[in-house]
Amino acid sequence: MKVPSKKTLFSSASRLLHTERQTDRQNLTTLFNRYVDKTDVFSWNSVIADLARSNDSSEALRAFSSMRKLSLHPNRSTFPCAIKACSSLLDLFSGKQTHQQAFVFGYHSDVFVSSALIVMYSACGEVEDARKVFDEMPERNIVCWTSMIRGYDLNGNAFDAVSLFKELLLDGRDHEDVDSKGVVSVISACSRVAAKGLTESIHGFVVKRGFERGVSVGNTLLDAYAKGREGGVAVARKIFDEIVGKDSVSYNSIMSVYAQNGMSSEAFDVFRILMNDKGKCVHDQVVRMGLEDDVVVGTSIIDMYCKCGRVEAARKVFDRMRKKNVRTWTAMIAGYGMHGHAVKALELFPVMISSGVRPNYITFVSVLAACSHAGLHVEGWRWFNLMKGRFGVEPGLEHYGCMVDLLGRAGYLQKAYDLVLTMKMKPDSVIWSSLLAACRIHKNVELAEISVARLFELDSSNCGYYMLLSHIYADAGRWKDVERVRTVMKKRGLVKPPGFSLLELNGEVHVFLIGDEEHPKRDEIYEFLEELNVKLLEAGYVSNTASVCHDVDEEEKEMTLRVHSEKLAVAFGIMSTVPGATVSVVKNLRVCSDCHDVIKLISKIVDREFVVRDAKRFHHFKNGVCSCGDYW
Ligand code: ZN
Ligand code: ZN
Repeated sequence: MKVPSKKTLFSSASRLLHTERQTDRQNLTTLFNRYVDKTDVFSWNSVIADLARSNDSSEALRAFSSMRKLSLHPNRSTFPCAIKACSSLLDLFSGKQTHQQAFVFGYHSDVFVSSALIVMYSACGEVEDARKVFDEMPERNIVCWTSMIRGYDLNGNAFDAVSLFKELLLDGRDHEDVDSKGVVSVISACSRVAAKGLTESIHGFVVKRGFERGVSVGNTLLDAYAKGREGGVAVARKIFDEIVGKDSVSYNSIMSVYAQNGMSSEAFDVFRILMNDKGKCVHDQVVRMGLEDDVVVGTSIIDMYCKCGRVEAARKVFDRMRKKNVRTWTAMIAGYGMHGHAVKALELFPVMISSGVRPNYITFVSVLAACSHAGLHVEGWRWFNLMKGRFGVEPGLEHYGCMVDLLGRAGYLQKAYDLVLTMKMKPDSVIWSSLLAACRIHKNVELAEISVARLFELDSSNCGYYMLLSHIYADAGRWKDVERVRTVMKKRGLVKPPGFSLLELNGEVHVFLIGDEEHPKRDEIYEFLEELNVKLLEAGYVSNTASVCHDVDEEEKEMTLRVHSEKLAVAFGIMSTVPGATVSVVKNLRVCSDCHDVIKLISKIVDREFVVRDAKRFHHFKNGVCSCGDYW
């Protein structure tokens, strides 16, 4: 037979002494008598302590009473545990009884027993009895002091808590061992006492003891400053910045500080920091503070959600806002456009107009950009032509930029060029490079040369223009021209900027370069990519060589064979997250068409959603398709 553990036996024993059933009694008695020395006070103590620690307070109390039934004498270790059990149960009656027994056995002035009694009385709301115990102690240690201070704090006696803390500091002894729990109580009490400079002096104490970097002390201090009427925003921010391991409470507190001081944009800055790692709970806080209904904050939240790729969340905020101004509508329309939901953007726009909000310059940029992202040139033309006549908004560079992009991509190169020629202002590099990019797609060498000439007038050091031009010549088989462009590039020392992708996981940012060899998990990533590649081939993937120029030099040829950074980031993202989780990647350059094809297929193979933000736009890859409709 397996011998039960001492703990089991003792707790059986305590049940035995209370049970009414004869058979139980007999069985337990046999066990108990065989294996346990009933007079072993230390074992009883350890069982009571164990039960109290494991929050089984009723059982702990029962064990204590069993021990008494066996006429055993509890000692100084027995009482603190029994009293702790009473406070957990908020059982004042048993607490008082235990106190009385401690008195009978002569332990009532013992420092541990007294501390436990202070906690018990405070927990049961009898703070005066707690103070009586405290006052009657012949000697006190720091635990008693902080227990009493916490007792006051717990019962809302902020003044008493603070004055006791002052007494502690004047106590003469150097209380090096003040613990952070005590400090937290004092600070939280201070925040309720409107005495001038009090929080500051406690803050000084905290800094001296090096507590301010801890998250619980830091949060309480922040909260105190948040409640303080003296402003102290800068101090609060400093405390916030210094907290090691900030949690959502820290962020919420600092946001409250800003919000209460009418600094909604600063509050929002904090919100912005939080968007990727803890966005949801902070947003809840914004709602709780009633800031969401503030049109500025609400609009910023929509904007931020959109920039983080969470368009649906943005729409929810949008729908809840009672007051919407032109910026609110524009942010939502822009968000839809950015993520390729042009139809939704164009559905929302007329609703905005009919609700009486007049679209402005930026609204039209958003509407036209949405059209351009989705290649809706008919819609785009319509609004472009209406903006001045019907809404009195004079088209600016951005609007022309969208239109040139839109027309160019749709293949209306001449129309796009004609539009550029009618512009009242000087076309900028964005406009000419849109036209140049369209020339690459539609293989128009003549217009490409015109565009490049204009671009070089504006900026002759941008290597991207040279690259595009050389690709356009290569596509047309004009190798001599390719050679000429490359020679110019070499002479000027122009180098293509390296592409890289970023991925954030649990607050850590991972950077991948093309053919990255530096990442600590390099081997696993390449192995995983190899596995994925087999599945890709099975799914009918053919590598897209169209983007690889035929006449590339050796160096570039090698580059094209190496793995693009976005593929590495996506692979690492899948490996490092739970199945089904969305993987978000940011790329500094535009995603290439091969990677685009690959990520589409991967999204289907692994049944995941990928959000890739490249230099141009967002791509939402899901179930084998991309939100951009392969148009970017
Ligand atoms: Zn690529
Ligand atoms: Zn895409």
